[in-house]
Amino acid sequence: MTTRPQVFQSSRIQQEFEQQTLGIIGGMSWESTESYYRLINEGVKEQLGHLHSADLLIHSLDFAPIEALQAKGAWDEMGKTLASSGKRLQAAGAQGLLIATNTMHKVAGDVIATTGLPLIHIADATAEAVKAQGLTKIGLLGTQFTMTEDFYKQRLIDAGLQVLIPEDGARAEVHRIIYDELCQGKLFDSSRQYYKEVIEQLAKQGCEGVILGCTEIGLLIRQEDSPIPVFDTTAIHAEAAVKFLLNNKY
Ligand code: GLU
Repeated sequence: MTTRPQVFQSSRIQQEFEQQTLGIIGGMSWESTESYYRLINEGVKEQLGHLHSADLLIHSLDFAPIEALQAKGAWDEMGKTLASSGKRLQAAGAQGLLIATNTMHKVAGDVIATTGLPLIHIADATAEAVKAQGLTKIGLLGTQFTMTEDFYKQRLIDAGLQVLIPEDGARAEVHRIIYDELCQGKLFDSSRQYYKEVIEQLAKQGCEGVILGCTEIGLLIRQEDSPIPVFDTTAIHAEAAVKFLLNNKY
């Protein structure tokens, strides 16, 4: 039987504890990959204490060509790019993978098929987090791809959630703000106000909570900006990553 190391009772390095190695396919955008890196390290430290930090490999892609391929709808090509990134992380020793963006989970299947590694799916982790709060009717904000396409929304529905998205015009503006501002590190009060109004509208339609289904939205919107619970997919995904790293033991 394994026992929990007494990290607070000894100044010696806890050599008996071994983490799994997680590979992160990031850079989409790097603004949120930075949040992942901090949150995952904070999570590991919270569990293990002392000088512990996360056993991570990060491959940070150049987002500009990816965004250009998204605009062209060249998902096969993006699937190959992310699968090759996964392969490189696997060759470097990754035992599991995480794609640090909601949208690019559209090609998660290519990464899994190419590497055969376990992949921590952001929509599954998010659905679990929503259900753990006992909520079923939920709003979804993200890129147009995430809000409207089955690869993400249907996964939430299959998990038992009822998913509402903003109307056409609001969707376009939510999407624009992600690419023109948040992915470029621009956080404007006017955009925060816009998102708040969109969330209020979803709440009026009966949503019990709202999924911040783009990994940069949490940089702009916090719980205090919303009348209903917010589910920040970056934080939820990072928490799932910590569980993976620690073999679900803690
Ligand atoms: N990071 C964003 C997301 O979570 C959008 C950027 C991208 O297209 O990957 O969807």
